[in-house]
Amino acid sequence: MIWGDYHTHTKNSDGHGTLIETLRQAQKLGLRQVGITDHGFRHVARGMKPRDVDKMRTQIEQYKAEFDVQCLLGIEANIYTSDGQIDLLPQQRDLFDYVVAGYHKAVWSKSIADAFRFGIPAFCADWTSYTDAQRRKYTKTMVQAIKTGKINVLAHLNYGIPAFVSEVGKAAMDYDVYVELNGKRVSMTDDEVMTLYDMGVKFILNSDGHYPNKIGNVDVPLAVVDRLKLDKSRIVNWEKLPDMTKKI
Ligand SMILES: [Zn+2]
Ligand SMILES: [Zn+2]
Repeated sequence: MIWGDYHTHTKNSDGHGTLIETLRQAQKLGLRQVGITDHGFRHVARGMKPRDVDKMRTQIEQYKAEFDVQCLLGIEANIYTSDGQIDLLPQQRDLFDYVVAGYHKAVWSKSIADAFRFGIPAFCADWTSYTDAQRRKYTKTMVQAIKTGKINVLAHLNYGIPAFVSEVGKAAMDYDVYVELNGKRVSMTDDEVMTLYDMGVKFILNSDGHYPNKIGNVDVPLAVVDRLKLDKSRIVNWEKLPDMTKKI
């Protein structure tokens, strides 16, 4: 089983549970760690507010003695510009124990120019009809995001925008970023997962749970791991705890 779930949501973004409900479920399942990662600040209507961060930190301290499971405070930052920036300012990085980052459609662009370069084309693109040129462009975005050095976990690779996974995997290895197999959906083909596996990429299995009863549930990616007969020692949170302390 996984010992920690590092991608979960609460009511502070678009989740439906509270921090304490998340902790209760994690404790019930016997997890040792759970990380709360509400959506980044530029997520349209669903992003957490900077003022929520302090509140969450206080709650984590408050509940510390009540639970055996350790609670970490992360963020699911948005990769939101064509050159791979995430919506977390350098001075905000230390508010969080670690950073998960991924692409999401409903995010305010950084500028009008960048909206036309990245936000709008990515928003409007049809998943079934991506060209190689578009794929190249998004690959560059993902690789640059990893190279910012701010990311611990790359969330749901290929969700929303496609990339050449071998190039993203290479950057992830160079910058010690864990590639997530997401609990809601694995957006990569089996071949793409195998490509990353054969390269030696480190995988992490997270629930991306938006409801308390989904916390810790990684049945979807586990089915992929089992079907492809991947060695579970390659999953950084499988019967061990990953190192989430990378700082820039
Ligand atoms: Zn996400
Ligand atoms: Zn999420």
